[in-house]
Amino acid sequence: MSESLNRGVARERIEDLERPALDDRAYRIITLRNKLEVLLIHDAKTDKASAALDVNVGSFSDAEDMPGIAHAVEHLLFMGTEKYPKENAYNQYLNAHSGHSNAYTASTSTNYYFELAASLSTPTNSKAPSPNATQESLPTLKDESPLWGALDRFGQFFVAPLFLEDTVDREIKAVDSENKKNLQSDSWRLHQLNKALSNPNHPYCHFSTGSWKTLHDDPIARGVKIRDEFIKFYSTHYSANRMKLVILGRESLDTLEEWADEIFSKVPNKDLPRKRWDNVSVYTENELLTQTFARPVFQSRSLELSFLYRDEEDLYESHPSRYLSHLIGHEGPGSILAYIKAKGWANGLGAGGSSMCPGSGLFNINVKLTEDGLTHYKEVTKVIFQYIAMIRAQPPQKWVVEEQIRMSEVDFRFKQKSPPSRTTSALGSVMQKPYDRKMLLSGPAVIRKFDAEAISQAMTYLRPDNFRLNIVSQEFPGGWDKKEKWYGTEYTSEKIPGDFLTEIKHAFENSAKERPADLHFPHKNEFIPNRLEVEKKEVDEPLKVPKLIRNDENVRTWYKKDDQFWVPKANVQIYLRTPLPHLTARTTAMSALYRDLVNDALVEYSYDADISGLVYDFSTHSTGLSITVQGYNDKLHVLLEKVLVSIRDLEAREDRFKILQDRLTRGFRNWDFGQPFHQIGTFSRFLKNEKAFLTDELLKELEGISAQDVQQFYPQILAQCHIEVMAHGNLYKEEALQITDLVEKTIKPKKLSPSQLPIRRTLIFPPGSSYVHERQLKDPANVNHCIEYSLYIGNSADRDLRAKILLLAQMTDEPAFNQLRTIEQLGYVVFSGGTFTDTWAGYRILIQSEKDCQYLEGRIEHFLTSFEKMLHEMKEDEFEGHKRAVVNKRLEKLKNLAQETSRFWSHIFSDTYDFLKADEDVKHIEPLSKQHLIDFFTHYISPRSTSRAKLSVHLVAQAKPKESTAEEHKLQAIQTVSTILAAENITPNTEKLRTRLLPLAFDPESLKTGDAVSNALLAHLSEDLKLGKEVVDKVLDEAKAALGLAVEKAVGGPVQIKDVHIWKAGLQMSTGVKPVKDLGEFMEGGAKL
Ligand SMILES: [Zn+2]
Repeated sequence: MSESLNRGVARERIEDLERPALDDRAYRIITLRNKLEVLLIHDAKTDKASAALDVNVGSFSDAEDMPGIAHAVEHLLFMGTEKYPKENAYNQYLNAHSGHSNAYTASTSTNYYFELAASLSTPTNSKAPSPNATQESLPTLKDESPLWGALDRFGQFFVAPLFLEDTVDREIKAVDSENKKNLQSDSWRLHQLNKALSNPNHPYCHFSTGSWKTLHDDPIARGVKIRDEFIKFYSTHYSANRMKLVILGRESLDTLEEWADEIFSKVPNKDLPRKRWDNVSVYTENELLTQTFARPVFQSRSLELSFLYRDEEDLYESHPSRYLSHLIGHEGPGSILAYIKAKGWANGLGAGGSSMCPGSGLFNINVKLTEDGLTHYKEVTKVIFQYIAMIRAQPPQKWVVEEQIRMSEVDFRFKQKSPPSRTTSALGSVMQKPYDRKMLLSGPAVIRKFDAEAISQAMTYLRPDNFRLNIVSQEFPGGWDKKEKWYGTEYTSEKIPGDFLTEIKHAFENSAKERPADLHFPHKNEFIPNRLEVEKKEVDEPLKVPKLIRNDENVRTWYKKDDQFWVPKANVQIYLRTPLPHLTARTTAMSALYRDLVNDALVEYSYDADISGLVYDFSTHSTGLSITVQGYNDKLHVLLEKVLVSIRDLEAREDRFKILQDRLTRGFRNWDFGQPFHQIGTFSRFLKNEKAFLTDELLKELEGISAQDVQQFYPQILAQCHIEVMAHGNLYKEEALQITDLVEKTIKPKKLSPSQLPIRRTLIFPPGSSYVHERQLKDPANVNHCIEYSLYIGNSADRDLRAKILLLAQMTDEPAFNQLRTIEQLGYVVFSGGTFTDTWAGYRILIQSEKDCQYLEGRIEHFLTSFEKMLHEMKEDEFEGHKRAVVNKRLEKLKNLAQETSRFWSHIFSDTYDFLKADEDVKHIEPLSKQHLIDFFTHYISPRSTSRAKLSVHLVAQAKPKESTAEEHKLQAIQTVSTILAAENITPNTEKLRTRLLPLAFDPESLKTGDAVSNALLAHLSEDLKLGKEVVDKVLDEAKAALGLAVEKAVGGPVQIKDVHIWKAGLQMSTGVKPVKDLGEFMEGGAKL
């Protein structure tokens, strides 16, 4: 025992936490002398360590005149501390140890967390970390554990952050860009509208993200020093007694306790109280009984009832609101949804209570309406109240809660591990709540008792004089006369008209006879699992490859009995291979409708299974159909059989067809209004694959398809296809074979000859090529451009190239983010990394930004050029560190059964059967030298390379900032040149540059040729700044790219892809995907004849 532990003799330690049956971690809760409560988790087998710190302050504490300040402080806290003043010290350290970090700001808490490798050594293929590590062999030395270094850097944020002056503006820009990313997103817009229309005296009403205006311009206009305000917020609200720390590592609890003590005892304690909002209501009578009609960006329709509710933090043993959400949100026979769906009014329904903050809560019911449902919104509202009245007419039903208790206990008992940072971050936030400390793990999940009294009280909140009504639609009722302040959402809002309210009250007071007989309590749930036995056969080493137990001409079955997670669950995947669903845009659209009709028909039946931890999925793909059933294996076959029969016997009913066709049409249209960075990948894939359909094409086809067309088409898909099944989990081999028989006998497909199986190929981009494809963003109001800059490297089956891409992605990860996001603030969304689709392997950088794509293109080239220099100068040990980091990532341990299933399935579904891919990657990364990477970079990546192949997709926003004047152009040019010079560590001379640029015309036409501007820049760099030729060339090139000067006239410049079809026809195709070895070799006992 060490010194520091002896000092804390009197410290209370809670270790006997209620835990899942399979949980092999050790827990300890302590409180440091500064009143910081800490949960320590020792996990001897983990390959990742993590910590999270949750501070009990969030946007509800924002200063009224500085909305977003809590969020901005969260951003700024990362930017340098007294002990580690370099602003990217933390991220650099995490990146070097296969780690990452994140943080979020909620209403009443701010949560910071990270995750990284648990040990310095690399687990090799053969020597996985020993599962039997004893206490003695656990790491205790700080320099042997990456966790110590991360904790020390992390802890300083809460001990002595610097709020570095020159990072303040940049991080406000990041916040501003984050806000701009959300501006066209309905979930943010409608949430903010609800907030804006709540009680102005409750902090819920505020805008919480913040923007350049609220955090920069407005405070400055008031004469406020922004940085001082941030420091003030931090020192007013951050205090050790408001913090909850969770540390998870391989070290013993004693070692973790010692480290927590050493680092986090230094966090200042100000004994601040836990904030509550008891005497202020989210809705007062001013806001209640109001109806709001809002116009969304997406073509969606919904109705929401929002009841003033209560905070149930203290009622965690009975969770009374779950009684209400279970019944109101039910989708089976007798439910609200089943009833209004049968009427053709709705597609979906959700209900639930939320404790918004200590002292306030809401209960919301949200219905997705059909076109007809929208015109019947009053009837829908009345049905909901009739149902509520029906459940209120009965005393709380014990059997309902008993089902819930049983299921919550089973789920908790067999809860599997989630990734360490998810565990620590979630527990940090749970610790802020008043759970009995022994129930920290179980409290949020388990319902312990039936509390009729608490449920009766809960029901009293759902009354016709205690709610608000929101209707969202692009068409109805029109004439929105107000605009929400922060997002510009158009809406109207008024008191619910007296006659409508009377009707609602009447519906609520209906006698049982007046209520529709179709509304009733759910039936007993037959899907709650009873058989929970797991046959546990210990093995030395879990199998990495499933066994092929059947391999006929037309049927393959893969099987693995679980050998490491020991849960009473199984995952069954079924793949019906056929080219038919993706033959043309029309068959693709018909298949999508078929899928939607099947899923729609199964809603009522599958709901009980769903809430009993047994779910199914039915999807269409470019190479066929897939069916998945996952969950407790007890009743898996019951659900599977029903799903298969529904797929085979679907009756495409005209009424449901119309509703689903409308929903799918809206879905396709809405796609154009999604985030640019979500859209752009589709265009890139469209250009990499020979055959792909864009939503535009599918939309056109959708209009002309009838229910009858689908009814005639889908049997054709099923008539002939290849069957591949994988059964994984708590199942026997015989069961896997029976499942396969069931599929075969139910679907009865004819054999699909191998010559008809689709082959996956992608286009080859020739060396020295450079393509640009430009598209206009359809959403006229979105201000964000997006670029995806891709370099084609080769065939993804080439293991050596793949290894180099993975290593390059690891090495550029932190520098790309640091340069393009943190330093240059191009936008909130910045990604870099490898891309592997079918046979296409490449490297890409993606940026979403208000800056135009040409400029971004220039900045990416600049980054790659400067990274090339970094790579040449990289020290050997740093290079080896990167190799270790990527190896660690590839060998990351599986956390649960579902992860293992999806790994197996991805290898089957991709046609490669490359089950040992991760090990192969490691084998090919380990021998790489720095010179290998330099050669690779020079050939495939460097902007100077004449052999690289580039494809750049530009998604251009319509909402351009207003046309710049010549003066603004000049300012922008000066700024651009200054940024580029600063990146080269050269002090710019703005005055002299101004003198050079001032006399030039700078109209759009002269910019296109750009000679005068280039000459002025050249003169400035070589004469005014007297820079060497090499630097001048580099800066000039970048500046020209950034200002869009060099594009048109560059020799061998990029080819604009205009006619995609013709362009594709001019390219060659890759070899196709094939199994990494003969499938017969996967058969049990070797090759099968
Ligand atoms: Zn943020």
